[in-house]
Amino acid sequence: MLRLSLLLACCFLLLTGCGHDAEPVGNSDIEYVSPVDYEITLAGNFGEPRPWHFHGGIDVKTGNVEGKQIFSIADGYVSRLTVNMYGFGNAIYVAHPDGHTSVYCHLQRFAPQYEALLQRTGHDTLSMILPSTQFPVKAGDLIAISGNTGHSTGPHLHLEIHDTETWVMRDPLIFLGHLIADTVAPQAHSFMAVPMQGEGVFNGSPDKQTFGFGQPDTKVQRSTFSVQREFTAWGRVGFALWADDYAQGVYHHYGIRHMQLLVDGREVFRSDVDSIPISCQPEVNQWGDYNHWRKNRIWYMKAYREPHMRLPILHADIHRGIVNFNEERPYHLTFVLRDYQNNQATYHFTVQGLRNKSVRLKPNGTLLDDYQLFDQCLWPYVTFRSF
Ligand SMILES: [Zn+2]
Repeated sequence: MLRLSLLLACCFLLLTGCGHDAEPVGNSDIEYVSPVDYEITLAGNFGEPRPWHFHGGIDVKTGNVEGKQIFSIADGYVSRLTVNMYGFGNAIYVAHPDGHTSVYCHLQRFAPQYEALLQRTGHDTLSMILPSTQFPVKAGDLIAISGNTGHSTGPHLHLEIHDTETWVMRDPLIFLGHLIADTVAPQAHSFMAVPMQGEGVFNGSPDKQTFGFGQPDTKVQRSTFSVQREFTAWGRVGFALWADDYAQGVYHHYGIRHMQLLVDGREVFRSDVDSIPISCQPEVNQWGDYNHWRKNRIWYMKAYREPHMRLPILHADIHRGIVNFNEERPYHLTFVLRDYQNNQATYHFTVQGLRNKSVRLKPNGTLLDDYQLFDQCLWPYVTFRSF
């Protein structure tokens, strides 16, 4: 019994993230200010799903033009300058005393004292690391001019914040959220039911199916929506959601910071996109339904965890968030969506458990009966041993 407990304890330790770089987000104790001298609006937020990666920062709008002044968001020192035709384009890095580094990308040019360091010869790729004593900056110091360099589809400031030591990406709203007005709740467009192969059916079918939530509420701070139609299910079924976040006065839409799935009031899955280790970037294709995205350019984000996933922002129950419909009764499902500013939308629907001959129910069983979990436990161990 002791050995079993030890094994399980090890499993849970190993399951907690992609490598050593996934510690919780700490609150900063230094003051953060705006990188621009006008009201911040966003064209993109942190963690938006994209093929093979999450969007690593926020896109601050620059009025569709280049040439806006860009300021350091906190005290610190300029730690790096990079010049590239691709990727970040011209980018400046500022290291802050609280252990974070801010990165300002797609710049037209740097402030003159940094520009003077570079011997540009045209289409260069340059990277210059600077010592902590050379260029100290204060919050609000001019460091660059905004632009459209590198991989950018229009003028804007792409701003990232990393843990300086581990390079884990943090949601910049943790530091700058107080500067951004947003009183509009996220909205879900539709959900997907995903019966596990050979182990479940939804509405009598083993195939995955999508169901719309109807015309969404106009942009409000809090909304509650109930689906009138009743669904049926038997066996193990996962759920996924297509949803976007919004803000007032902007036509852009954003990724969902916080998603939760409750079954009969009990949480089975929660995601909180506050911090992403670089090594977990490709797991966006497993959390999201990548095949569906390829065909339809729409991301359904799963409210369950695929086996082997280590993305530390997903929190599932012992069944990985997959619901086991094994009683002939109504199951009440609720999706709760929240943004950084705590604007909230809630979606309810009812699924009737209805026996189906094609599904052989798996017993709910003990922890070790769940081969998926066991598999997850062994995998990081084997990986660790082989390096
Ligand atoms: Zn961006």
